[in-house]
Amino acid sequence: VIEIDGLTKRFGDTTALDDVSLRVHRGEVAVLLGLSGSGKSTLLRHIDGLEAPSSGTVRVLGAEVPRLRGRALRGLRHRVGFIFQQFELVGPLTVLENVLSGALGDLRGPRLGLFSYPRALKHRALAHLERVGLLDRAYQRADTLSGGQQQRVAIARALMQNPEVLLADEPVASLDPESSAQVMALIREIAAADGLTVLCTLHQVDLAISWADRIVGLRHGALVLDTPAEGLSRAEVMEIYGRVATST
Ligand code: ATP
Ligand code: MG
Repeated sequence: VIEIDGLTKRFGDTTALDDVSLRVHRGEVAVLLGLSGSGKSTLLRHIDGLEAPSSGTVRVLGAEVPRLRGRALRGLRHRVGFIFQQFELVGPLTVLENVLSGALGDLRGPRLGLFSYPRALKHRALAHLERVGLLDRAYQRADTLSGGQQQRVAIARALMQNPEVLLADEPVASLDPESSAQVMALIREIAAADGLTVLCTLHQVDLAISWADRIVGLRHGALVLDTPAEGLSRAEVMEIYGRVATST
């Protein structure tokens, strides 16, 4: 689903990605690890067409991402969901309205008023909320939820566009350990049930080993690890961080 070959990205003198080649297959949960500045977010942004490679190719769902423009690029972004560390919900709106807003790309013409969404969409939004375990919060203000709950709402919102790929940039970085595990379990469960392909950056090695199918390590922009998570030891993963991080 995601095929990256020889991807290099420079920002002036900085080489953010250095000849990265990577495959992520349908239904797989791949976790991207690496120190701050190793290029994780930059890699994710190439997959959604938010960055253009200096060299190399990025194919997602059969399309050459850097060549896409206009409607074709919007079409790809519609099939690729993105969630972030800061959930980016609209606090004063209800949970349900936030989830519904994930479908705005579905609608032609001017934005509909939040209370005039088609009934079918509302049913879908409620079904997604049930799936993430927050149906009972649908009519509550989004900013009254805990961080873990807000991230689950963000996942429900991403599901409204029926994505085939989910990119998650440090989705649990601002959550406590228990909520982090819940969010990762949810992502994994949805990937398995829907055949959703996931590429997720994390800073927690243990979470990666527990929830990923595959672990990919970046160091100074280069791919230094690409291996199944099962049976992988913490020490093996820590090698991608080099000496600096192993002492912390
Ligand atoms: P973190 O764990 O802190 O989120 P990261 O692995 O996501 O880090 P990136 O954000 O991908 O790292 O950054 C990789 C490198 O590219 C860094 O050296 C960063 O300064 C540089 N970089 C990223 N985006 C830009 C940009 N738009 N302009 C210039 N340099 C950039
Ligand atoms: Mg980042």
